[in-house]
Amino acid sequence: QKGGTGKTTAVRTLTDVFRKVGLATLAVDLDPQGNLSDYLDVDPDAAPTVGDVLSGRAKAAAAVHDGIIPANLGLAEAELMLGGKMGRELTLKKALREVKGDYDIVLIDCPPSLGLITINGLAAASEVLVPIQCEYYALEGLGQLLRNVHLVQANLNEKLEVSTIVLTMYDGRTKLAEQVADEVRSHFGNKVCRNIIPRTVRISEAPSFGQPITVFDPSSRGAIAYRELAKEVSGGKA
Ligand code: ADP
Ligand code: MG
Repeated sequence: QKGGTGKTTAVRTLTDVFRKVGLATLAVDLDPQGNLSDYLDVDPDAAPTVGDVLSGRAKAAAAVHDGIIPANLGLAEAELMLGGKMGRELTLKKALREVKGDYDIVLIDCPPSLGLITINGLAAASEVLVPIQCEYYALEGLGQLLRNVHLVQANLNEKLEVSTIVLTMYDGRTKLAEQVADEVRSHFGNKVCRNIIPRTVRISEAPSFGQPITVFDPSSRGAIAYRELAKEVSGGKA
């Protein structure tokens, strides 16, 4: 539910690593800002998007472009339309049923707000991965997020849980980063991944080349950290 915490970067980079080791991976952009979709060559204003899928205009399979279901501002419109419909919280889950069998892993990139779109994402998921920035205010909003995940779990998706916390944008030169990491570990114990994603300039440069760090600079520290993280979160499959 926060912006700029590394959600889209994690989705795009993990998708790349999973695919390279042969895991069939689908990434779904649920943010009307379409940051994940910016990695695609297709123009999300011309192609079917997740907004078309949620409003019933396109099948999920038809909206997959290079392993990503893109989003654009039309998603905000689809969210409004969905509001008055029966089963509105489960629309994404139902739409993905048709393609689910084709993939080993589906990663859903959520927007930085709790609305019907995010609820659709949480209702369709089996696990929640939360990237936490090792900086000031890192834990702000986390309590609210956990309450919301619990609400979705109680009402829509019994199995849902925050299974994975990823410490990211870690700057080893600051005491603060270390303190945040310690605090998160003492709260969340073994849900916190051992592998930490460092803050690096290379990671922040990669999106403007339309590439995840693992393509942009495969031997960089950031790319190595993401490959290790992928191994960890996939239970050794990646
Ligand atoms: P969110 O999807 O949560 O809003 P993003 O993944 O878009 O967050 O990341 C926010 C910004 O921080 C982007 O400009 C991204 O390139 C940059 N960024 C993400 N992870 C790192 C990192 N480990 N080191 C440096 N910059 C990062
Ligand atoms: Mg994002």
